[in-house]
Amino acid sequence: MSDHNHMHADPEAALARAERVCRERGARFTSQRRRVYELIVCAGEPVTAYELLHRMGGDGGHPAPPTVYRALDFLQAHGLVHRLASQSRFVACDHPETGAHGGVFLVCDRCGRALEWQDERVARAVARSAREAGFELGDEVLPEVEGTCGDCRRG
Ligand SMILES: [Zn+2]
Ligand SMILES: [Zn+2]
Repeated sequence: MSDHNHMHADPEAALARAERVCRERGARFTSQRRRVYELIVCAGEPVTAYELLHRMGGDGGHPAPPTVYRALDFLQAHGLVHRLASQSRFVACDHPETGAHGGVFLVCDRCGRALEWQDERVARAVARSAREAGFELGDEVLPEVEGTCGDCRRG
């Protein structure tokens, strides 16, 4: 039984953990950053920056787009969220405290959820392939694989 999806069931725990990660690194988890992170965690599936803006607007306040983009930059820089490059969507990391995010995203084409599968072998293989091809990797180097998740296959 994998615990990869637990955080989606408990946003409070995810927020507390994110706060701890920021505190340990001397980074400020401001209310805007917290709000953006909370929305991503609660979404339970990859969300676009536009959707985040829209949902924040639903609170009555209307944040300027740069505010949301800056918050996303911060969250990415600290490994709290990742960007799915193929869809330009954001997902919460389920192990931000480790600081290691090498692996592969398993993206379900039915329910849209993205599972970050931690596997150093994948990270090493990607890095080696890139090096041999003379290719410089970007900051977010999590490859994505599409398919059908376990829940959807059972459903
Ligand atoms: Zn991660
Ligand atoms: Zn699915």
